[in-house]
Amino acid sequence: KNLKTYFYKKGKPLPVVDDVSFQVNKGETVAIVGESGSGKSMTTLSIMRLVPSPNGKTIGGEIVFNGTDILKQKNDAMYKVRGNEIGMIFQEPMTSLNPVFTIGDQITETLIYHKKISKKEAYKVAKEMLELVGFSRVDQIMKDYPHRLSGGMRQRVMIAMALSCDPKLLIADEPTTALDVTVQAQILDLMRELSKKLDSAIILITHDLGVVAELADRVVVMYAGQVVEEADIIPLFDKPLHPYTVGLIESVP
Ligand code: ATP
Ligand code: MG
Repeated sequence: KNLKTYFYKKGKPLPVVDDVSFQVNKGETVAIVGESGSGKSMTTLSIMRLVPSPNGKTIGGEIVFNGTDILKQKNDAMYKVRGNEIGMIFQEPMTSLNPVFTIGDQITETLIYHKKISKKEAYKVAKEMLELVGFSRVDQIMKDYPHRLSGGMRQRVMIAMALSCDPKLLIADEPTTALDVTVQAQILDLMRELSKKLDSAIILITHDLGVVAELADRVVVMYAGQVVEEADIIPLFDKPLHPYTVGLIESVP
C-alpha cells in the first residue's frame, strides 16, 4: 500500500517505485506488466526487502502480509517471513544457485535453515518437491551440480526450492524469459498446475501478454514507477483504460 522505493543517486533520492498499491489474495495469480524500467522488479524486490538501503530510508509505505506490516518488522521477524512465507524465482536460475553445491544440498540446507527441521526430514521434503516439479530421476538430480542441468531443469529446481518452504506467496520475476519456447511452455504449464494445487498466491512479472492471459486472474499495469491500471484479466483485455495498456494490447498480433 502506497509503496515508495528510492534509489539514491549522488545523495539525491529518486523514486523508482512511486506510490504503488495493489492487493494479492490467497490462491490468486496477479501479473505485473509494464515496459522495461517501469519498476516491476523493484516492486517485488521491495516486498522481499532486497533493495539496498544505505540510510534505512529506501522503502516507504506499507507491505501488509497476513495482516502485519512487514516493513515495520525487525530483521529477525522479517527474515522469517522472507524465508518461510515468500518464495521468489528469477529470470536466470543460475544466479540463485550455487555452482559448488549439489541440488540436493542446496534445497536441504535451505529447508534446515528456514524450517529448523532435521537433515533426514529435509531430504525427504526436497525429494518430494523435485517430484512435484516433474523430475522423475530424483535421486540423480539431488546429486547433480547446477551446471549439469539444462536451463529449464534449473528453473524447475528453483521452483522446487522456492516452494519447499511452503510459502504463502510465490514471486516469479520473468521466470521463463531466459528459456527457449518449448521449455517456456513446460514451465508455464507447471506453474499453472502448481497454482491450482497449492493454495499460495502468485505474483508473476512478465513481458508476455500471452503468459498473462494463460496464468493470471488479475493484472497490474505499471508505467514509470506507478500503477496505471489494475483489472481482472478479461476486462483488461476487452477494455483497457490507460493509453499505455491500450498500446500494449494492440501490440500483440
Ligand atoms: P525490466 O522489464 O527491464 O526488468 P523493470 O520494470 O523490472 O524492468 P526495475 O528493474 O524495477 O524495472 O527498475 C525500475 C527503475 O529502477 C529503473 O528506472 C532502473 O533504472 C532503476 N534501477 C534499478 N536498479 C537500479 C540500480 N541498481 N541502481 C540505480 N537504479 C536502478
Ligand atoms: Mg525486471
